[in-house]
Amino acid sequence: MSLLQGKKGLILNVANDRSIASYIAHHAVKAGATCGFGYLPMGDPVKSERRVRKAMEEHGFADSFLQQCDVGSDEQIERFFAAAGEKFGAIDFLVHSLAFADRTYLARGKFLSTPREVFKQALDISAYSLIALARAAAPLMTSGGSIITLTYLGSDRAVPGYNVMGVAKAALESSVRYLAAELGEKNIRVNSLSAGPLRTLSAMAVGGIDEMFTKVEQLSPMKRNIDGDDVGKTALYLLSDLSSGVTGANIFVDNGINIVGG
Ligand code: NAD
Repeated sequence: MSLLQGKKGLILNVANDRSIASYIAHHAVKAGATCGFGYLPMGDPVKSERRVRKAMEEHGFADSFLQQCDVGSDEQIERFFAAAGEKFGAIDFLVHSLAFADRTYLARGKFLSTPREVFKQALDISAYSLIALARAAAPLMTSGGSIITLTYLGSDRAVPGYNVMGVAKAALESSVRYLAAELGEKNIRVNSLSAGPLRTLSAMAVGGIDEMFTKVEQLSPMKRNIDGDDVGKTALYLLSDLSSGVTGANIFVDNGINIVGG
């Protein structure tokens, strides 16, 4: 399949080989795309970069463009896109696959106690960042393009333990619609992909995550949890011309758990 042959895109951020970003990149590269990546250094910057490169190696794109980008910093976003612009010239897609909230408040029964600063940080890093990245990416999308972000059902339902992250995802999904409305005339599409639970670094911070896996297995129509490839393949659809008429949409990749009641 060469659905993205000749296309170039930026994927932010990769933490390790299990990151959703890594799976999306894997499928994009397999479909012919050239990708550049962002990462957030944690601890020793040299070790951090080495760890991310190792993850990239496992998915087969070790030598790609990689630059740090803390989306809480306008300066870093500017630097990232300046470097990406120099490297790639124009781009065709942007993948926003990142989020953060203080894990102390991602526990059952802790929503009411969310401090103002924790709320602001969660919304800033997990939702506002999509607007900031889209603004930086749009001038590079000279022939139009596709922007995708990752969300979760906790935007819409009170999922125990998801808490302030659910509020941030609601803001993120709404931002998708507003961005889609504004960027449509530039032929840029903006969509979100709502993934079921997956064992990643971020997911492990969510209280009650193990219960979520059990519930999906028991109650979802497909009676199984999703894997990274399920997400990667739907991302490929959204990034490619196959979804040319789709914008402002939220697509569930969750084996149908979102439709189940009772
Ligand atoms: P992950 O831990 O691999 O990725 C999260 C990324 O966010 C990391 O690369 C981390 O560096 C980045 N990040 C955190 N703070 C940042 C900051 N200030 N600046 C820049 N980057 C920052 O976990 P993941 O599950 O692959 O998460 C990717 C996206 O998928 C997130 O938006 C997450 O909410 C969403 N999602 C995950 C699941 C799941 O169950 N894993 C389900 C639905 C949606």
